[in-house]
Amino acid sequence: MTDTDSFRQETRDWLETNCPESMRQPYRNEADACWGGRNYKFQSEDQKNWLDRMAAKGWTVPTWPVEYGGGGLNSEQAKILKQELNRIKARKPLESFGISMLGPPLLKFGSEELKQQHLPAIARGEIRWVQGYSEPNAGSDLASLQMRADDMGDHFIVNGSKVWTSYGNLGDWMFCLVRTDFEAKKHEGISFVMFDMTSEGVSTRPIKLISGKSPFTETLLENTRVEKNQVIGEINKGWTIAKYLLTHEREMIAGSGIAASGSLPLSKVATNAMGTDNGILRNSFIRADIARFEIDERCLELTIERARDEVKAGVSLGAVASMFKYYGTELNKRRNELQMSISGQDALVWDGETSRDGYLPKAWLRSKGNSIEGGTSEIQLNIVAKRILGLPG
Ligand SMILES: Cc1cc2nc3c(=O)[nH]c(=O)nc-3n(C[C@H](O)[C@H](O)[C@H](O)COP(=O)(O)OP(=O)(O)OC[C@H]3O[C@@H](n4cnc5c(N)ncnc54)[C@H](O)[C@@H]3O)c2cc1C
Repeated sequence: MTDTDSFRQETRDWLETNCPESMRQPYRNEADACWGGRNYKFQSEDQKNWLDRMAAKGWTVPTWPVEYGGGGLNSEQAKILKQELNRIKARKPLESFGISMLGPPLLKFGSEELKQQHLPAIARGEIRWVQGYSEPNAGSDLASLQMRADDMGDHFIVNGSKVWTSYGNLGDWMFCLVRTDFEAKKHEGISFVMFDMTSEGVSTRPIKLISGKSPFTETLLENTRVEKNQVIGEINKGWTIAKYLLTHEREMIAGSGIAASGSLPLSKVATNAMGTDNGILRNSFIRADIARFEIDERCLELTIERARDEVKAGVSLGAVASMFKYYGTELNKRRNELQMSISGQDALVWDGETSRDGYLPKAWLRSKGNSIEGGTSEIQLNIVAKRILGLPG
């Protein structure tokens, strides 16, 4: 048996013993996703056990170093782990902006103290992080941000507002871009800071959405003290870190184009909903659309996998993340359109008795935001045009 084979066997055995049966079922609704954090209420004992066991093994962040709560796996082992999780249709043990957004820049640019303070807590799902980038007049043109951090020696006093903070009211800590030099060119006066959302002067206000829910808040800071030891990298050099984080955010959002582990493939959803003739989906138009969709989905998955291997070999992801983000979010919108076409009356239910009532139309409406969050499609196309195709700006 090769090392790879024995790792696969050990992984399979471990998952068989440790992944509860109820964590091998598709999500019934958004509430089944585990976000962790100080105030998180677990849906079940199984959900908590699944998170705790995966975290103890370092497998909520399989490729992070062991000393920061990771599994220390190489890319081959991480791929095997992913395949084995998919094989048993395991749910993700933890959804986390700490993992998908903050972790990579903290690993690359953070001091040893900051890594020790934050990374293990992220890996264990103890702290829920939120993103403070956008402001009322700084979205696509993010570098125009105006949240003001005045230097008070060992700390800053911060004033201003952020907007579109996803889950701002549920966050424990925020990673945030602030202006620390008011005279410099706009990209050169920004710092990347972190603070506890329970700090004095921090408040949030909900923003209502067309999908009927409000995952967003405005986040207001009024004379909030932020310690200087919570700056990642150098003061006034936060733009580099902000951009690096965005490549990871964009790659994460691109993943919305690929069916989540534990969810049914669209072809199966369609055959369940519409029935078959001799094993073939009845509606030939939908059949063709689904076939095209599933081929495109598989191509995206393989292309992202190839790019990840290149990153592990030292190639920077950079502008390619914009290409993935654009394509992945378009795919997710296509999936949701198809789900609505397939689902007949279920697609018309908005509120009702069971937890899945209203899930489809709300997910469909939510998918429209995919091509805005993390930078709009137009901005991604601009980046692809300039930095990949080399077209004039
Ligand atoms: C679901 C969702 C979740 C989000 N979560 C967060 C979060 O957690 N934290 C956070 O900080 N922000 C978050 N955002 C905000 C998001 O990053 C911004 O909405 C986004 O960057 C666009 O900024 P804007 O809304 O100000 O639009 P604008 O920048 O005002 O853009 C308006 C329109 O103009 C177009 N446009 C602008 N500039 C150009 C250009 N140069 N070339 C071509 N077209 C252009 C845009 O494509 C868009 O169509 C979230 C947004 C959504 C939808």
